[in-house]
Amino acid sequence: MIARVHATASASRANGPGRRFVVWFQGCTLGCAGCFNPATHVAAGPTIALDEVIAAFDAAAVDGLTLSGGEPMQQAPAALELLLAARRRGRSTLMFSGYTRGELAAQALGPAVLAHLDVLVDGRYQPADKLGHGLRGSANQTLHLLTARHSRAEVEATPEAEIRIGKDGSLELTGVAPLTVRSLR
Ligand code: SF4
Repeated sequence: MIARVHATASASRANGPGRRFVVWFQGCTLGCAGCFNPATHVAAGPTIALDEVIAAFDAAAVDGLTLSGGEPMQQAPAALELLLAARRRGRSTLMFSGYTRGELAAQALGPAVLAHLDVLVDGRYQPADKLGHGLRGSANQTLHLLTARHSRAEVEATPEAEIRIGKDGSLELTGVAPLTVRSLR
């Protein structure tokens, strides 16, 4: 199976508890005002074989997998395949989705995806309710603990932002309240 993937990170600490592999899907039609990641909206661009993503996940030897976007559930078969791979390896699973839990449950693959998640952060980003901590970008979003794997305190202790500096000097800025290049100057 292939998917449109905006980016991956092999060792993030700002996208859920512990050290996590993150997949940012490419494509989102939900159109939240003030979205931090508008470059992920267009449902176009290169695709990648999920076998390659899973091989990178294995090589990273992380605590868990986080799916983000873009909107993971607009490529639900790929999201489910990645979650199944993480679960088979006994790793933690977390997904950020602009859809609410109820909306997800009504989607064809929603119940299967929910059944393979430890943590779901759901709902559209609403800039008027900006929060930026505890893994929630805005206060209307909800942190759902779908299994007993993580405590609320553990998940909410996730750092709000991180900066990763690549070997080539490139900067990657992630988290629910990511810094901007301008704020670093
Ligand atoms: S659902 Fe997420 S990626 Fe899509 S517009 Fe809203 S905040 Fe941005």
